[in-house]
Amino acid sequence: MGSSFEKFLDELKGSLDIVDLVSDYVDLKKVGKNYVGLCPFHQEKTPSFTVNPERQFFYCFGCGVGGDVISFLMEIENITFKESVKMLARRSGMEVPGDDPRHRQQLREREKLFKINHLTAKFYHYLLLETDQGLKAINYLKKRGFTKKDIKKFGLGYAPDRWDGLLKFLTGKGFEEGELVKAGLVLLSNNNNYYDRFRDRLIFPIFNSRGEVLAFGGRLIDSDESQPKYLNSPETPVFNKGKNLYGLNWAKHEMRKSSEVIIMEGYTDVLRAHQMGINNVVASLGTALTSEQARLIARYSNLAYISYDADTAGTKATLRGLDILKNAGLNVKVVDLPQDSDPDEYLRKKGVDEFYTLLEEAVDLVEFKIKQGLENIDLNNVQGKIEGTRKLVKILATLEDRIEREIYIQNVSDKFNLDPEILKSEVEKLIKINKNKDKNSSRRYTKKSNRRYFTNKNNKTNSFRSIHFIEEKLLHAFIDFPELRNTIVNEINTDMFSKEYQEVAEFLWENKDSLKGDIINNIESKVLRNKVMELMINNKTVQPEGVERLIVNFKEENVYNIKVGLYKKLQENNLNVNRLNKLLINFQKLSGNHRKEGL
Ligand SMILES: [Zn+2]
Repeated sequence: MGSSFEKFLDELKGSLDIVDLVSDYVDLKKVGKNYVGLCPFHQEKTPSFTVNPERQFFYCFGCGVGGDVISFLMEIENITFKESVKMLARRSGMEVPGDDPRHRQQLREREKLFKINHLTAKFYHYLLLETDQGLKAINYLKKRGFTKKDIKKFGLGYAPDRWDGLLKFLTGKGFEEGELVKAGLVLLSNNNNYYDRFRDRLIFPIFNSRGEVLAFGGRLIDSDESQPKYLNSPETPVFNKGKNLYGLNWAKHEMRKSSEVIIMEGYTDVLRAHQMGINNVVASLGTALTSEQARLIARYSNLAYISYDADTAGTKATLRGLDILKNAGLNVKVVDLPQDSDPDEYLRKKGVDEFYTLLEEAVDLVEFKIKQGLENIDLNNVQGKIEGTRKLVKILATLEDRIEREIYIQNVSDKFNLDPEILKSEVEKLIKINKNKDKNSSRRYTKKSNRRYFTNKNNKTNSFRSIHFIEEKLLHAFIDFPELRNTIVNEINTDMFSKEYQEVAEFLWENKDSLKGDIINNIESKVLRNKVMELMINNKTVQPEGVERLIVNFKEENVYNIKVGLYKKLQENNLNVNRLNKLLINFQKLSGNHRKEGL
């Protein structure tokens, strides 16, 4: 975006008052420096929706939605960035200037593709509902228990059994063939004829979270061995399969409200769930989830239930996808559907209550992997016990957190009647081997796990209270004084923060040059967003001239706390020689550097 446009945005925001705008939609009460009210984006009884007039932003501690005037209007009116800017400009009597030509060209192209998609969805929808051509598809849907109301809600359609049905319709509306190819709806044959991609198929439009049509999925109605059962739009300038989720536009409000999401596989799974009133359901558009999809999910929820078809849930690709969710900060539970069933079928046969029972019985990711790994192994004979233990060791060795690992080791040994000490030593052996294997490629990982090792047990003790106070102030100063950011970054390593603030610091350090008033929009994880917001809303301001002193205090506190942690470790009896040596070396380093202080 051109700098003139950014300047315009600054002026526009400067001319508006966020309290004024939000008050049009929410009853606000003044509390301290802030205004609070009941969140319009999720159901709540006590207000956690906060507007900060000083920084001109809003934030909800309940559902994690937040931003500036522009994003508030986008969210509440469900409109695009551009539309929001236009509405706000009208509100303050300003004119939106033209932005730079290349960007304008891109915008025009995207708008055209959205228009083509919109018309296509309408065309297919009309054929399904209003013409004889659609009867076959209507009957198929009826047989599967979908009603006219469902067809309308989900915008379903029918692609006619012709080579040029859509082609003729859209060229008749003035679009060029090349544009339709770009939209992924029309193909060019070897002898240079254009033809429809979707023919004689039931059509599921794929929407983005704002409800704009991005792409289409088409399902065969008659069984035909020579054709794929499902056919999807290719990637286009407006559609990236790995960045979208089917059903998010219908699910997002309930996802926010409940902080939970249920991830299924197919279009009809999502349709069935929503039809039966389970509204926080999306599908992954393919079984292997991407990290972008995981982050998208984490924006709206904390807990993800995986409800894949019984036959895919245990495959390797699926399990990898689930680790991606965990890495995005989500808690993951796997729903165990009966053999050979899918959510659509299960819901139809058993109903909502039984499905919710399955959710209650869902196990976490590690348990699921264990269950999966031990399937078909008879733990009652020696051979089975050896094989089973090997598999368990492999699974448990992937757990990075030592405490989590030990809890599972205990559980598993109890459950399968294994010796916990043997299991533990085998797991630790494997971890060591794995670490040596990729020592060079994963320095970061080693560093991180060391840090955790020091802070896990200690971060709730008194010694960490004062450091929290200092680090909060330091981070607050970082946000408040852009001109001091480089000084702080040069002096303080993010490793020096406690576990609670490490991620916040990493985010701020990484974005030190681009950080602006609307940083909330750049933070995708809700947990992280909440922490940054708490920092910004809390009244812990310091004067810029106090920052230098703060840095010194922080460093001193940091050294002191590491030493306390080390000392406690030394007192523990279960240290092996290697670890003891490492700790001693660290300890001596620290003592040497700061001889003045005693423990
Ligand atoms: Zn909220």
